[in-house]
Amino acid sequence: MSAPIPAHDPNCIFCKIIAKQIPSRIVYEDEEVFAFHDINPWAPVHFLLIPKAHIPSMAQVGPEQAGLLGRMMALVPKLALEQGCNPYPDGGYRLVTNTGREGGQEVQHLHFHVMGGPRPWLRG
Ligand code: AMP
Ligand code: ZN
Repeated sequence: MSAPIPAHDPNCIFCKIIAKQIPSRIVYEDEEVFAFHDINPWAPVHFLLIPKAHIPSMAQVGPEQAGLLGRMMALVPKLALEQGCNPYPDGGYRLVTNTGREGGQEVQHLHFHVMGGPRPWLRG
């Protein structure tokens, strides 16, 4: 790992989920990445993949995070299938990252939505 891990934000709900101060339905965890089911799912499968480091959004990402983000992206296919997304190409999933107010971001801790499963979906 090249970049120093930023301080966790004590007011951040996702930092609290990582610290298990707030319960979540955990999908995956390693030393730098955490994944858990979205509390308000849009699709039959809807989980969030987040770095344990408190990176507020994609807007703060630069070359120092390339390795971390690459490792996160490389986890998505395996986790999506494990959680019930159907195989590509007839199945698949959406991978979404809302960024900033105009991007529709509500929680200011970088997260990737993985949404899939049989349609219809509630939204999307
Ligand atoms: P965004 O609008 O991209 O910032 O998405 C934030 C997502 O976090 C929403 O889909 C929420 O349903 C989800 N969320 C908020 N609080 C929790 C929580 N305590 N546990 C799981 N998901 C949450
Ligand atoms: Zn955070």
